[in-house]
Amino acid sequence: MDLRWSAEQEAFRAKARAWLDANVPHDLPSGDTRDGFAAHLEWERALHAARWAVVSWPRRYAGRDATLWEWLIFEEEYYRAGAPQRVTQNGIFLLAPTLFEFGTPEQQDRLLPRMAAAQDLWCQGWSEPGAGSDLAAVRSSAIRDDARGGWLLSGQKTWTTRGAFCTHLFGLFRTDPAAQRHRGLTYFLVPLDAPGVTVRGFQRLDGDEGFAEVFFDGVFVPDRDVLGEVNQGWRVAMATTGSERGLTLRSPGRFLAGADRLIELYRQRPSPALRDQVVQSWIDAQAYQMFTVQQVTAIAGGRPPGAESSLNKLFWSELDVRLHETATDLLGECGELDCRWPRGFLFSLAGPIYAGTNEVQRNVVAERLLGLPRT
Ligand SMILES: Cc1cc2nc3c(=O)[nH]c(=O)nc-3n(C[C@H](O)[C@H](O)[C@H](O)COP(=O)(O)OP(=O)(O)OC[C@H]3O[C@@H](n4cnc5c(N)ncnc54)[C@H](O)[C@@H]3O)c2cc1C
Repeated sequence: MDLRWSAEQEAFRAKARAWLDANVPHDLPSGDTRDGFAAHLEWERALHAARWAVVSWPRRYAGRDATLWEWLIFEEEYYRAGAPQRVTQNGIFLLAPTLFEFGTPEQQDRLLPRMAAAQDLWCQGWSEPGAGSDLAAVRSSAIRDDARGGWLLSGQKTWTTRGAFCTHLFGLFRTDPAAQRHRGLTYFLVPLDAPGVTVRGFQRLDGDEGFAEVFFDGVFVPDRDVLGEVNQGWRVAMATTGSERGLTLRSPGRFLAGADRLIELYRQRPSPALRDQVVQSWIDAQAYQMFTVQQVTAIAGGRPPGAESSLNKLFWSELDVRLHETATDLLGECGELDCRWPRGFLFSLAGPIYAGTNEVQRNVVAERLLGLPRT
């Protein structure tokens, strides 16, 4: 096993680092507020203009044909440079890999360039008031409209991250109410300005306002905006889920940079009682990177992760909470004066919930990886 990067990979790193160091904006407001979102879009467009928005995509879609290894390197450099959160993430990291796998060439050519350029901004419309962990309980429906060659969507989605600011939604709707729960779903791509769509934004506990409920009242969606086959939406959605829990949504770079910041904080405010926790966070971030490297090796060898992505999700979300708890303890009473760590701490608490709760991920690990009996 050789864990060193090649000269070519180091050259890629140097190029990314130079551009990021010269261009990263600092102190943008949160991308989950309206003003912050607009500021983040400028940054997204700068990334796109310099061909750094979607490095692993093909060149014809504004990518660099980067390998998964180079993508990991870019992510490390991105977070090392303290670059902003990616407000386009639900499109470029969740929907795009699914479009590459299930989209028609027409869909890919039509949707991916606009997504890369942050012209179309995508949110994820899966959860409903009665369907969260139990996603197959989705009740929003789509009824066939043969005359117009498409579908009429009705129902409600909720917890739609940045739904109040996005232009498009990818979502699951029930197309065959008579089929078994997982079998009668279809994956739709919907512009949020279509007649019959109502987006109602609401605030999170931390004051950010990007969450939305999205209502559909007979919204027409043409056949060309069905992703994958009709009634096969569950299979398509599981591909999105693999990206969400696994590799793409939370790369190790994010936590390596977080652990480095924690060490820096410890240097400024040494507290021997917390030394072991600081070291443990750094070890955890390194371990997550090693785990990811192993996973990328498997993917490069033609073995996609499948249910193993639940392990990633458990690891990164719990590591993030511990890391932020340690920072909060180090800051003590000063914590309230330093915005970044307490905000990060609050958001880390959501990690064990979004992308499928950790209780449910433990069920997946127990049943599908360890082969334990179903409860
Ligand atoms: C910050 C954030 C962003 C989000 N963004 C989006 C988004 O963009 N789009 C979207 O569609 N959704 C989004 N969600 C919603 C998220 O996917 C759901 O909150 C999550 O799937 C849990 O569903 P629920 O809230 O309905 O809780 P429930 O499913 O009602 O679960 C309640 C509790 O019961 C536990 N539980 C449920 N079933 C089981 C079981 N079988 N075994 C053991 N325990 C169980 C859960 O772990 C949880 O603790 C977001 C959530 C958060 C917090």
